[in-house]
Amino acid sequence: MDPFSWTAPEEFEEMIENSQATSAAGSFDAPGVVRQSHSTGLLKNIFVKCKRCRTLLYVRAWEKNLKVCEVCGYHFRLSASERIASLLDPGGFVEREAEMQSSDPLDFAGQSHTYAEKLIEEQKRTAMYEAVVIGIGQIARYPLVLAVMDFHFIGGSMGLVVGEKITRAVELACEKHLPLLIVSASGGARMQEGIFSLMQMAKVSVALTSLSEARLPFISLLTDPTMGGVAASFGMQGDIILAEPGALVGFAGPRVIEQFIHQKLPEDADTSEFMLSHGMIDAVIPRSELRSTLCQLLHYYSQRPSQNAQSPGQSVFFSKAQQMPERRGEPQPSVNQSSPLNSWEKVQIARHKDRPYTADYIRLICGNFLELRGDRRYADDQAIIGGFATLAGRTVMLVGHQKGRDQKQRQTCSFGMPHPEGYRKAQRLMRHAEKFGFPVICLIDTPGAFPGLEAEQRGQAQAIAESLTIMSTLRVPTVAVVIGEGGSGGALALGLADRVLMLEHSIYTVASPEAAASILWRDNKLASQAADAMRITAHDLLKLGMIDGIIPEPEGGAHLDHVAGGHLLAEYLALALAELEVISLQTVLEQRHTKFRNLGLFQL
Ligand SMILES: [Zn+2]
Repeated sequence: MDPFSWTAPEEFEEMIENSQATSAAGSFDAPGVVRQSHSTGLLKNIFVKCKRCRTLLYVRAWEKNLKVCEVCGYHFRLSASERIASLLDPGGFVEREAEMQSSDPLDFAGQSHTYAEKLIEEQKRTAMYEAVVIGIGQIARYPLVLAVMDFHFIGGSMGLVVGEKITRAVELACEKHLPLLIVSASGGARMQEGIFSLMQMAKVSVALTSLSEARLPFISLLTDPTMGGVAASFGMQGDIILAEPGALVGFAGPRVIEQFIHQKLPEDADTSEFMLSHGMIDAVIPRSELRSTLCQLLHYYSQRPSQNAQSPGQSVFFSKAQQMPERRGEPQPSVNQSSPLNSWEKVQIARHKDRPYTADYIRLICGNFLELRGDRRYADDQAIIGGFATLAGRTVMLVGHQKGRDQKQRQTCSFGMPHPEGYRKAQRLMRHAEKFGFPVICLIDTPGAFPGLEAEQRGQAQAIAESLTIMSTLRVPTVAVVIGEGGSGGALALGLADRVLMLEHSIYTVASPEAAASILWRDNKLASQAADAMRITAHDLLKLGMIDGIIPEPEGGAHLDHVAGGHLLAEYLALALAELEVISLQTVLEQRHTKFRNLGLFQL
């Protein structure tokens, strides 16, 4: 049995021609793609009623707004052609495999009509051969391979042809060495194609491993709805997973779950926002911002550095003997060598409520930041934030602890104390950076990992241990900077880096001075004494050989001048990256291992 038929029926070609002739006026139209009108509720083509807030919307304004309700933000479903027109540069889409269609592999007999009849009916109704359109196009002149599903064709269900076309899109991306974008919109598997349908999940997954091995980025965009076998295969296999607001995203779906467990689910169950807060996707992006976000992502990936620097160099910049680099002809800010501040006073500055946090530095030093959220396992822990950033003209992966500025933020961020999911998010982002060759920058600012029962249940120690393993083997340059408090293993989990630096007034310690005083002397009032005894300032740690350098702060501390503090941090990060980039990867790894092997060298 040949499941595919490659020849379009004559009447279908005629239907497409007619459809194209009547759709010339639409602002959504992309060349080569048939425009369809699936909108329901149109009142004399002037108004459309919002399905969520019931407002009557002017059709022209609604279409101009990419079919998003201007009152409540409800995102109406788009056809594949509308989606393509909304995302790609005009005129550049070249469709592939346009005429591939199913030939009813199981001879499936329905109750009122056969599947073969159903297919013809759907093809006539939608002017499409199948539920996915694939091809090559450009976004802001960045070329990419695109596969866009259309829910209007048998609920976007995945049968043989959908699976085959998406697989061919993946193979096309491999062949052309291009990024891949798949826009999902599907109720799941196509029942009428039975086991053939189920196996498409496996077919596409296997193809995607080749794309991954070629280190080509795969961006998955989930739209309303993405369910069942589509969500449970390529939908959730993206290097980056984005979703439109309010989209139904999940596996079984709320209706099936409610029937099964006889309980009402929360309002937001199985929505994009639910998936975001549970760590499953990177971001929820409104339709109006999708094109610019994709453009931003493609820009990051286009900035990938070439593999391996040429000259195996020796670290001369942040040597342990010298606190500061010296560059000829440029005035250098310097660390005050005879600081009037004692250790306890440094602790107060390191914890100062106005001290810049990771999010502040991101705003100050990264012109182009895209936050990536979630551990893809359990939750999105805001005590660690991270994402792509552009720094000194290169794409980097920036990860850092975040404490939160006001009371609400502090609670959201657990006062900068990560749960295991925070560390697992950091690991995921580091692995992503490694896959695509981006340097990793970590900003450390935490009193410690979150002490709590749930953190233990989810494996706090395992998560920190795994972070140390990953950072010790990461095949890209890494730079860590303690920007405030470096507390215990929760800090070190982001600190096993090729260059470990500290801001002038930051601290780094095995336990807080209060905890140490309590443990050692059963009196946390002796914290200032403990702070001195434990040697926790940047100067102390440099002398002990635990860090590679100190970054100066504006006079009095970074909390007094965020902008100047940001400038200094950016300058030193750029220098550290530049230094690491001229060293071969092999040497970087060897030096990393030697450095940490020799910490606290034991001499007989
Ligand atoms: Zn509305």
